[in-house]
Amino acid sequence: MTAASSVPPLPVVDFPPTSSSTLSWGDTVDTSEGGTLLPHVVAWNLTRRCNLECSHCYISAGAWHGTEGELSTEECFRILDDLLAVNPSMLLILSGGEPLLRDDLESIAERAASAGATVVVGTNGTLLNEQRIESLKAAGVRGVAVSVDSLNPTYHDRFRHGTGALEATLAAVDRLVQHELDFIIQTSLTKGNRNELSDLVAWAAEKGAVSFNLYFLVPTGRGEGMQGLTPGENEEVLAELLSLEQEYRGRLMIRSKCQPQLMRHVLEAGVESGLLNYETRCPCGVHYCRITPEGKVTPCPYLPAVAGDLMRESFLDVWTSSPVFGALREGELGGKCGRCEYREVCGGCRARAYAQSGDPLASDESCVYDPPGDRPVVERRRPMAYGQSAKTALEWTPEARQRLERIPSFVRGVVTSRVEEFARKRGYPAVDLEVMAEVRRSMPVDFSKKLPFFLRSADGKASQSEAPDV
Ligand code: SF4
Ligand code: SF4
Ligand code: SF4
Repeated sequence: MTAASSVPPLPVVDFPPTSSSTLSWGDTVDTSEGGTLLPHVVAWNLTRRCNLECSHCYISAGAWHGTEGELSTEECFRILDDLLAVNPSMLLILSGGEPLLRDDLESIAERAASAGATVVVGTNGTLLNEQRIESLKAAGVRGVAVSVDSLNPTYHDRFRHGTGALEATLAAVDRLVQHELDFIIQTSLTKGNRNELSDLVAWAAEKGAVSFNLYFLVPTGRGEGMQGLTPGENEEVLAELLSLEQEYRGRLMIRSKCQPQLMRHVLEAGVESGLLNYETRCPCGVHYCRITPEGKVTPCPYLPAVAGDLMRESFLDVWTSSPVFGALREGELGGKCGRCEYREVCGGCRARAYAQSGDPLASDESCVYDPPGDRPVVERRRPMAYGQSAKTALEWTPEARQRLERIPSFVRGVVTSRVEEFARKRGYPAVDLEVMAEVRRSMPVDFSKKLPFFLRSADGKASQSEAPDV
């Protein structure tokens, strides 16, 4: 079978979704198999302890925190089982504080990965020695997100409050490359490093990162008193980010975090982009949530409003019945976000609205756009988006279906529809492993050589015969 260039590019996602949702305000909650409101992505801050003390840290982590109040290993296991009973194929982000400070990190990761979750770890990278990288891999961790704010040690170390932090993190990135564990680079944007954006992206691409994520400030936690960029400056950075996203397409995914306004730029420019696979309205509380070190559930790490307490309630109860989630799912957006034609594909960052006004449904004042309010609502361009489920229309062999089920639930709908579209165009009556392999061969050349973390086999090798192919 031969590949054809007319096939649309296959979806490639990074760890946390930038901003997307699975349903419109007012849709009902359905966590059943194939339902639209599964928790597809859960970020778990396992500790407030950290060996660094960054200026912007949303969880105010630091070395002075002790283990008091942190969930024990057994409590983590119980909560994990509770989470995975709702969605075993979730993308689970184990983070902190610095999660490597927990010596049970690998046990927690292993329990989740062996139950079917795709597990990734968010770290400042300074403690990622060879032994930890190997033990994370052995536990089934599929990727690591590492923070690099600048390639200039003076800036990075001052921002992260740690002498030698950059040097340690860059050495860790080299070790990740050497040990073939996928990684993404995360950069927190400030006035001090905005001119370094293209250099950081070029460096991340050269190192072989799966993705580059640019974080825009949400003034919460220790970042509460910090000044982000002005709305006009944000607009300029988003335009630059889109231009970099286009330049590096097929080599490196580039995403904005806490700034879903990037989708407005994509749609205004009318360009092809992997970002169009996102629906996108901010996903917090819709298919994304966060668990604190003490077991509280909030809609997103940057939005501290507590939706429930997993030491007292089941995750399913919190997910389906919390008024905090209800408001995010069903409430009308206020201010300019409420009258904006991009409200369904952007919607603004709800955490920033909460930090700025105390109301998660208020407008996101970091956005420069002043919508007139009388324009037709802009809808997403692709019929299927991340987070949605797709029913299979063609026959899938048991092996192909098994391979599909290894893909995180978050992307499975998009992958299913793309594979079937591919098969239908060629007149194939069924999807088998060979069709899936052919789909993979049709991917842009760089991704077919270097698969992202969730498309690799469990041992991290992207072999033609063993790796999930789509
Ligand atoms: S931002 Fe990350 S590395 Fe920095 S203090 Fe917070 S948890 Fe630690
Ligand atoms: S006004 Fe709100 S919804 Fe519209 S583009 Fe700006 S942040 Fe997005
Ligand atoms: S609230 Fe902001 S930071 Fe949280 S998921 Fe939504 S866009 Fe991202």
